[in-house]
This record gives sequence, structure tokens and C-alpha cells, in this order.
Amino acid sequence: MAEINRAVKGTNDILPEQSGSWQFVERKMLETAELFGFKEIRVPVFEHTEVFQRSVGDTTDVVQKEMYTFDDKGGRSITLRPELTAGVIRSAIENGIVNGALPAKVCYIGGCYRYEKPQAGRLREFHQFGVECMGAADPAADAEVISLAGQVLENIGIENISLEINSIGCPECRKEYHKALKEYFASRKTELCDTCNDRLERNPMRILDCKSPVCSEIAAKAPVVIDYLCDDCKSHFEKVKAHLDAAGIKYKVNPHIVRGLDYYTRTVFEFVSGDIGAQSTVCGGGRYDGLISQMGGPQVPSLGFAMGIERLMLVLKSQGTQLPLKSGCDIYIASMGEKAAFEATRICAELRKSGFSAQTDICGRGLKAQMKYANKQNAKFSAVLGDNEIDSGIIRLKNMETGTEQEIKLADIADQLGKAINEIALAELTETVFNQ
Ligand code: ATP
Ligand code: MG
Repeated sequence: MAEINRAVKGTNDILPEQSGSWQFVERKMLETAELFGFKEIRVPVFEHTEVFQRSVGDTTDVVQKEMYTFDDKGGRSITLRPELTAGVIRSAIENGIVNGALPAKVCYIGGCYRYEKPQAGRLREFHQFGVECMGAADPAADAEVISLAGQVLENIGIENISLEINSIGCPECRKEYHKALKEYFASRKTELCDTCNDRLERNPMRILDCKSPVCSEIAAKAPVVIDYLCDDCKSHFEKVKAHLDAAGIKYKVNPHIVRGLDYYTRTVFEFVSGDIGAQSTVCGGGRYDGLISQMGGPQVPSLGFAMGIERLMLVLKSQGTQLPLKSGCDIYIASMGEKAAFEATRICAELRKSGFSAQTDICGRGLKAQMKYANKQNAKFSAVLGDNEIDSGIIRLKNMETGTEQEIKLADIADQLGKAINEIALAELTETVFNQ
């Protein structure tokens, strides 16, 4: 097949039969975030390359290997966002959000671009929902952000997901830790990959995140940062745990979580699913107390998380979760003859103004083909409109699932259709109550 008919490697289309689930999930995300006081922010898909180099960090896999970077026609180096935090922080500084009432709470949904090896749960274009809570240093903020992530997952209907937390300390406690790490990795220097050899001097913590099998085996036995925390960081972490306990949130401390982006300090966390294979981290986040000042803004301690929507979809699929999706078409008005076709157009316009999803023939097809299409659309009701119906002002409303019909006045169609739809909804509700 020609390239023109093929999506780029590592990208997915979200097809009409899938978009209902995406809309449901995204709606739940935004609604839940709102309950915690987070408002949506939308930032560009691309930024100056430096925005990511400076924040994500130039020794990370993301910056060293995964960015889509190009020069635009004006000679600027531009990068498609590999994540949204950097752009959101850039915007928060530029628009004075970080100088306003704090904490400033924002959330986002958007596409991200990383040149990675495509596999299940790992794409080159993927989507994240995330939040940033700017200007909150207290451990209560860490627990609030973590509980928001947990609440989102619960509201979507995700089950069996575990929360793992860790503290990676502040620049102060990392001095000692870096020393210990360098010593440990230097003893295995010849076995490390080239990238990690370079990281050994510049940023030894990044070796802990290397995906190469040899490096990750060596990294598994390296000293862990939680043993090197200063008193302030230790006390912060203890309080985060106490707040999580107070919120009734279960967690496990995993001293091996370091996260793949440089800007994290102190608390880091992941929500991990056992149901989707190797790419099991559905959500990752943490505190980034130094990021905003590092990017030229004021010293505003902050934190956030991002969850991968494609991975969430995989979990929902593997758990067989039934999402409460709206069925599309409320009524299909089939028409016979030209006069009826015009009348069907009028009725559909009226019904749509009243909030019903109504469709009619727009292909000039015969009755049989129209009904076949109505079936494929999963229409709840149908009605056939011909000269007789127009003359008598009476139409038969047919329930497409049961086949039962009722005569209604054409003039009352919106009211009668509304009643009939409510009856179906009530019957479904009664059935679920009985089945419980
Ligand atoms: P991983 O260790 O799986 O590469 P990461 O540490 O690079 O993840 P983050 O940058 O923290 O991930 O992004 C947050 C979330 O976004 C991840 O937990 C995951 O759910 C999702 N994600 C990251 N990269 C991809 C990708 N290439 N394809 C699909 N989802 C992704
Ligand atoms: Mg990654």
C-alpha cells in the first residue's frame, strides 16, 4: 500500500467506534480534577527546543533519544512536546500564573510525541492527562495530588491498580547520594552502555533509569536514594505518608522509583497495573520544587503527575470494563417519496433542536436500504413517513429492539419520543437493580 494510505509508525487513529470511550474517560478526568479545584489549561503542541532541554534534562532518554526536533522555516529549533509539564510551566511563568493566587491548580489533556520503539503501550504519538499544582510546599499537597490521580482512576472504573511512592530527596541530600552512586557505577564502568558512561560524570541518577538490560541489572543493586535523605526530606516524606493514611489511600514504598525526567525532587510516585504487560506504569508524577525557578520564574515549589490515556484504555480493555456510553441515534425517520423526504428533513430539524439525535435518509435510498442503515446505526426508534402519515398526522413509532409499535401524533413527536426513551431507561435501571 502507498504511504499515503498508511499512518506513521507508532501512531494510532482513534476511530469513531472508540471515540465514545475516549470522551467518557476524558470527561471523567476533567470532572474529577474540577472537584479538587484544577482548571484546564491548553498549551501548544510545539515549543522552543530549549523548553524541554532545560526542564526534562539533557541527560534523560527523552531529550537524548526521543524528541521530534526540527528547524522551522525561520531557523528556530522547535520540538513537538514529549510531555506537557514543561510547556505548562513555560506558560504559567509567561502569563504570570505563578505570581497570582497560590496554589495555582491546572490540568490538561493532550498529545505527546516521542521517538520510541513502538510496542504495546508504547507509541510515538500518545495522549496524557495530567495536573500541575504550583506553589504548595506542604506534604498535604503531595497527598492531594496523589489522591486526585487515584480518584480519577477509580471514577473511570480501573481496578487492581497499585500506588508506589518514593522520595528522591533535594539537591542537598543528593550530593552525598551522587557520590555513592558514582563510586558504585565506576566499579562497573566497563559494562555500562555508552550513554550511561557519559551520564556517570554528568548525572549518575539517570543510569538508574536506563532501559538497556545490562545497565538496568547493574542499577538494580545500586545504593537507593531514600537511604541518603536529609532530615527535612525525611520528615516531608513521613508527613506525605501520614496524609495518605488520613485520606485512606493504600501505597507501597518502592525505593527504586526515580522517574525518567530530571526535574523531580522529593516525592515521586507511580500507579502500576498488573494487567497490561511490560508497559505497566499508567501514571507517573512527583514534586518539582526547583523547576519553575530553573525555567526563569520565581521559586515556587510545585508538583504534578501525568497519566497515559492509551495505557488506561488497555487496562479497561483487559479488565473488560463496560463504560456507560451513550448510544448514538435516538430515532431514524425513514421516508417514502419526495414530499415525505422534505417532511423528514423538517421533523429531524425539530427533534435535533429539542436535543434528540435524529437521522433520516440523505442518499435517496429505498425503504429497505434505509431500515438496514437505521439498524446499523443502532437507532433506538424508527418511524416510516409516507403520504398517508403526512395526511393523517399519525405516525408509528417503532422500538427497534423489541419491535413494538405505538401510534403517535406527528405534532407530538418530540414529547412522545422523549417519553419512550425514558421508559427504556427506566426499564434498564430496574433490570440492573434486580440483578444486583
Ligand atoms: P516509561 O518508563 O514507560 O517509558 P516514562 O517514565 O517515560 O514511562 P512519563 O514521562 O512519566 O513516562 O509519562 C507519564 C505517563 O505517560 C507514563 O506513565 C505512561 O502512562 C505514558 N507514556 C509515556 N511514554 C509513553 C509512550 N511512548 N506511549 C504511550 N504512553 C506513554
Ligand atoms: Mg519513557
